[in-house]
Amino acid sequence: MPATKMILKCGECNRENYYVSKNRQNNPDKLKLKKYCKFCRKHIMHEETRLKK
Ligand SMILES: [Zn+2]
Repeated sequence: MPATKMILKCGECNRENYYVSKNRQNNPDKLKLKKYCKFCRKHIMHEETRLKK
């Protein structure tokens, strides 16, 4: 099963800061990670968005 490419979006400024790949069968839940946003210059919860084809 190939991994799907996902984008992690900053919850505050909505910028797409991180690209991750995950296996949707192993991880069906929506990813939420606290990551540093260089635009907000602090750690924000980032949520996954699916990469558009
Ligand atoms: Zn941000």
